[in-house]
Amino acid sequence: MKYIGAHVSAAGGADRAVARASEIGATAFALFTKNQRQWRGKPLTDEAITAFRNAMASHGYTPAQVLPHDSYLINLGHPDAEGLAKSRAAFLDEMQRCEQLGLTLLNFHPGSHLRRISERDCLKLIAESVNDALSRTRGVTAVIENTAGQGSNLGYRFEQLAEIIEQVEDRSRVGVCIDTCHAFAAGYDLRTPEATRATLDEFERTVGFEYLRGMHLNDAKSTLGSRLDRHHRLGQGHIGSDGFATLMQDERLGNIPMILETIEPALWPREIAWLRSQAGLSSTVSTS
Ligand SMILES: [Zn+2]
Ligand SMILES: [Zn+2]
Repeated sequence: MKYIGAHVSAAGGADRAVARASEIGATAFALFTKNQRQWRGKPLTDEAITAFRNAMASHGYTPAQVLPHDSYLINLGHPDAEGLAKSRAAFLDEMQRCEQLGLTLLNFHPGSHLRRISERDCLKLIAESVNDALSRTRGVTAVIENTAGQGSNLGYRFEQLAEIIEQVEDRSRVGVCIDTCHAFAAGYDLRTPEATRATLDEFERTVGFEYLRGMHLNDAKSTLGSRLDRHHRLGQGHIGSDGFATLMQDERLGNIPMILETIEPALWPREIAWLRSQAGLSSTVSTS
């Protein structure tokens, strides 16, 4: 089954994100569990946790359909001890918030070497950061998102994702999220059915689908291999409709949240309906 949705706003509380996802016909959604541009969020109250859990139940979502995203400030491969410690504390807090909400996945960007340490050392720090967070939480999988490779961001090659996973102790709780715009900007072609299947084959060889725990479905304003992270509306960017139609038809991609982070939230209901039709699903979801 393809779970298809978008990264919805959690303004007013995480329970509001569930309602917003349901309103746009999403069978999956992403959210920030705190302000993504701040280091510290207010602790979740018991009321907020109960409201979220009730909303999940009443709108019929399971944790497997939800892919929370962590703060943009966190750099789990930070070259400085102080920056690393601050990032690790914030990441642990994010993992614990997921635990409290009963969620099982947390999507994060691997990290940046800031041109001060080698790629290999940075990937090792990221893996150690993941080990640290996993050892202090239960039931939440750390989901590494591939990047466009802008600046000194790592994780733009599938091999780099594999290198992090290799150094994680509990591999049952580490996974990967492929962002199509990031992959394309990093040089993985998704413009034709053949190119898209070849990219998936390469992922299968280097990382393996057993680690694929989510996808971000974004077209790209940036060009192939440009290393620029610029999302676009589905079908309007340099990837184009064929790539997304192929992804919807590929049987290797199933039972994971597939999340739009496209630039016009008003278009999400239409984009979701189109993706559903490509996957052979009815264009509307029966709402409960
Ligand atoms: Zn992201
Ligand atoms: Zn993304």
